[in-house]
Amino acid sequence: MRPITRRIFLTALTCPTLGWLMCQDQIPNPITAAARFQIEQGLEIGRRARALYPTGHLIATHNFNSAIAAIQNLMIHPNTQTLFEPAFLTENIATRADILTRKQDGRWHLIEVKARIVDFKPVCIELEELTRTPKKPEPELRFECRGCDLFKDCTGQGIDNHIFDLPRLNQTRFETLTDSGIVCIEEIPSGFSLTGKQNRVKVCVQSNKPQIEARLKPDLEAVSWPTFYLDFETVMTAIPLYPNLAPYAQLPTQYSIHKCSEPGHVTAHSEYLADPSRDCRLELAERLISDLKGAGSIVVYTSFEKTIINGLARLYPDLAADLNLLIGRLVDLEAIIKKNFYHPGFHGRTSIKRTLPVLVPEMSYDGLDIGMALPRSRFLR
Ligand code: SF4
Repeated sequence: MRPITRRIFLTALTCPTLGWLMCQDQIPNPITAAARFQIEQGLEIGRRARALYPTGHLIATHNFNSAIAAIQNLMIHPNTQTLFEPAFLTENIATRADILTRKQDGRWHLIEVKARIVDFKPVCIELEELTRTPKKPEPELRFECRGCDLFKDCTGQGIDNHIFDLPRLNQTRFETLTDSGIVCIEEIPSGFSLTGKQNRVKVCVQSNKPQIEARLKPDLEAVSWPTFYLDFETVMTAIPLYPNLAPYAQLPTQYSIHKCSEPGHVTAHSEYLADPSRDCRLELAERLISDLKGAGSIVVYTSFEKTIINGLARLYPDLAADLNLLIGRLVDLEAIIKKNFYHPGFHGRTSIKRTLPVLVPEMSYDGLDIGMALPRSRFLR
């Protein structure tokens, strides 16, 4: 059994079942490209923080027992001034600080303490008992299940149209429904108070029929041909990659454009991929204007592309007029879907990952890692 780390501790406070599974090492934990990218950023920040203490010792091992043994050896040595990522274990509760430094009077100073053990003592005892039991605590449906990776195999198992499919379901409404024993949309009685969008989902699920508004056809006919299908990729980093960027600023790094003369008939394709060794935003903006020149709608899915083009227009006033012309040609297909069409297979969402397999079953995102597309960056080289 693993020691109770901060992550397990906080998880078990919310869901004892999940905390127990983590303690038993029973959570499948595939490292996605997005997670790997975040880990790399954390490592880079750690490296820079350590550069401020050049005589420090890094406790690099991930094994808690080895880390604790290393700490004990270093702390008794009078020349040891600074330790990075020291590990501490008390009554099976484990934590790691960022930096431990020795003051002039000989006392140790802990920087970025993860928890103060005395405040949590009663909870810790309870959690220790819980995580030591050999039997997994029975899962209970709770509001937090909505964001849990195990939901489909746990409290959501076997339920096709869970009440979590209701858009923006808040905790109060969730509790009102579950207190009455309702977990499926099919079971929601008529007259139960829902928002307009939630009610639309309920009506579609209960009738098992898509809902099509009269405006769908004219809204789609507003698309003018030839049409350019535009898709951006961006990257956000904790440590700015280039001067004059804020932490986590959204940096456009890539785009792809398919030009169609009529539905389904691609006549040209253009794309741009930034060079990670320099800030390419100006070059990207100029190429974008050139690649989209001419007449015809620029079709996007979500308002993301508009946000990116607006950001470029603010950044490069000389290009603002041309970029604003592009914005005037944008047609957001998701907005049209949201307003005019709902299918029970969407399960309360209109993201392209949900709508594409329902509307075009022969196309699918299965097997593609599209949670976060990553251009090559300094962190990944
Ligand atoms: S689905 Fe809910 S009960 Fe099951 S592990 Fe996740 S949070 Fe806990």
